Amino acid sequence: MARASRLLFIGLDAFEPLIMLKLVDEGLMPNFSRLLKEGSFTLAYSSPPCDTPTNWTTIMTGSFTGTHGMTSFFAHKPHGELNEGFSTLDSRVCESEFLWNVLEDYGKRVAIVNYPVAWPPTIKRGIVIGGPAPGASPWRVKWPMVYSNNCTTRDLNKCSPITIKEAEGWVNIPNSRSKPLEFEFTLTGEGPTAEQTPGWFIRPSTKLTKVPKYYALVINLNGAGYDTVIVSRLRDVSSPIATLKSGDWSGWIRDNVTVGDSSYEVAFRLKLVKLSNDASLIELYRSDVVLTSGWSAPVDLSGEITDALGPYVEGVECQPDLSSIREDVLGDDYFSIWLENIKYSIGWYSGLAKLLKDRFNWDAFIMHYHLHDSVNHRFLGLLYDKHPSYNAEYASRLWDFYREVYRLTDDFIGEMIKYVDEDTLIVLASDHGQVPAWRFIWIGDALIKRGLLAYRLEGDYYVVDWSRTMAYPFGHTTPYIFINLKGRDPHGIVDPRDYDAVRYEVIEALYSIRDPENGEHPVALALKKEDAEFLGQWGERVGDVIYFLKPGYSNVVFDFSRVHKRIVDGPIVRPLSDMGFWTALHHDYLPNAQVGLFTNEAFILMKGPGIRKGFRRDKPVWLTDLAPTIAHLMGVRLPRNNEGNIIADFLE
Ligand SMILES: [Zn+2]
Repeated sequence: MARASRLLFIGLDAFEPLIMLKLVDEGLMPNFSRLLKEGSFTLAYSSPPCDTPTNWTTIMTGSFTGTHGMTSFFAHKPHGELNEGFSTLDSRVCESEFLWNVLEDYGKRVAIVNYPVAWPPTIKRGIVIGGPAPGASPWRVKWPMVYSNNCTTRDLNKCSPITIKEAEGWVNIPNSRSKPLEFEFTLTGEGPTAEQTPGWFIRPSTKLTKVPKYYALVINLNGAGYDTVIVSRLRDVSSPIATLKSGDWSGWIRDNVTVGDSSYEVAFRLKLVKLSNDASLIELYRSDVVLTSGWSAPVDLSGEITDALGPYVEGVECQPDLSSIREDVLGDDYFSIWLENIKYSIGWYSGLAKLLKDRFNWDAFIMHYHLHDSVNHRFLGLLYDKHPSYNAEYASRLWDFYREVYRLTDDFIGEMIKYVDEDTLIVLASDHGQVPAWRFIWIGDALIKRGLLAYRLEGDYYVVDWSRTMAYPFGHTTPYIFINLKGRDPHGIVDPRDYDAVRYEVIEALYSIRDPENGEHPVALALKKEDAEFLGQWGERVGDVIYFLKPGYSNVVFDFSRVHKRIVDGPIVRPLSDMGFWTALHHDYLPNAQVGLFTNEAFILMKGPGIRKGFRRDKPVWLTDLAPTIAHLMGVRLPRNNEGNIIADFLE
């Protein structure tokens, strides 16, 4: 059998495979079309929870959740308080071996880029760029910001007001046909904080203690009204850091900021979104402010990459959505700025693959791209005609956006495969899909009513009372309920002899939940941990009871130990839009949940030596099957703890 000597692995988070097949049929995705003709394709089941850290780990280790222990974003700490946990966006807490370590054992030069569970690096000689996952970046100092003289109705943490006045004290001003104007701005706005991303990696301090100030001069160069903004560190036009006309992006602007006692070099970009002729409306978009170093192993590489391609902006493809700069802040420019960020990211990642190929001649390039997860959370549900916020006209605009997003993804894949040779195994895969959701379900109610879960009111919050709690939903996007067990848990009250009886009571309570509006049961499946072994569930980090919801319903409570009274005292079912921006989700559902064209299933597409051409599997495989299949095709051993099978019918 032919062996592959190199590997190009591109992970597409929450990519919707059925939408891709539809758009391939429409002729919009020529590179995917070619890969489907020249390679093998299958849908795949995630290992629950159908979430990001869990399944990028499953993909790279070949092991199920119970074995690798990466139970969603925040894992229960065994024997700790039942609400105690730790971030899984951290390679050190994975209990299985990664395929990239196996490849390195075989002398392969490995480059791992933006892979959620690859940081800190576990490989010794290869290259690791970033991780750990969108919104969790330890290298982001500030979220993006819009500077405007018209922030009136907008969130001031997303829109920073500027005052425009006559320019004073400037030198070297070019000949302006109207009286020169000026405004000032600084790197305002909050960076990511622990409250916004519970349990996720964040910088220890995002408070900038010393921030540079920038001066912007607004002038009329061509005589048809104000047309140019010149940004400078001083009121001196001879050394501008950006000269922008309406619609222009600046290059990367570098500066030093102080966080605590330390000084860091950061970089950001500007886009002049709007400049009206009379300067009565100015909108200046500022990208994330990110560190220009610290995100590469070896350490020195980040400087070289920043010089050649710009800095690593984790999740830049998800902007402006990730940053919460949404339509209410950016209006019509929202989608265009997003598409421009996607184009930037495509250039950066494909440029990086080439730069690292030239510099290090990698044998394996393994990367993750988060675009589709972000697009789907925000918009997928609005494509579904039974979603209560569905609007045919808006859905048609959204389909245009989706087509552009998938077309750009296809361009990206085209760029990435341009440089690979015939000995390279090309693998595209996703970690899960998404399905529409519009009903929030407060499952705590059913447990409280049966005396299984207890709270006491402290101010506006219900705080868990361990002395009366028999069953605790861990939350944090896990579908787990832990029994408060004597001898195991710090405040255990359930006698081990009653462990099973209490679990059956929990399961009954979950099945008893009914949506008062339509009589539906929101819980699709609830079972004891041992009964969920066929779903890869075992080990101390997995809950004693596991449950899955029906598509349409969601349970987005992060922390059940402290719940706002508006939830506990409110209706058990309410619009999901009350709880945040989600229109579609993945972690709540079974791996095969599907609603029309929208599926929670992942996919695998492979092309290269030893792979059948034009093969499409009828039934899904498990994502555990990917690592052993790659190992087999590359002639290396299986990762320790591998539990997957080689996808035999993919082989020539
Ligand atoms: Zn994901």
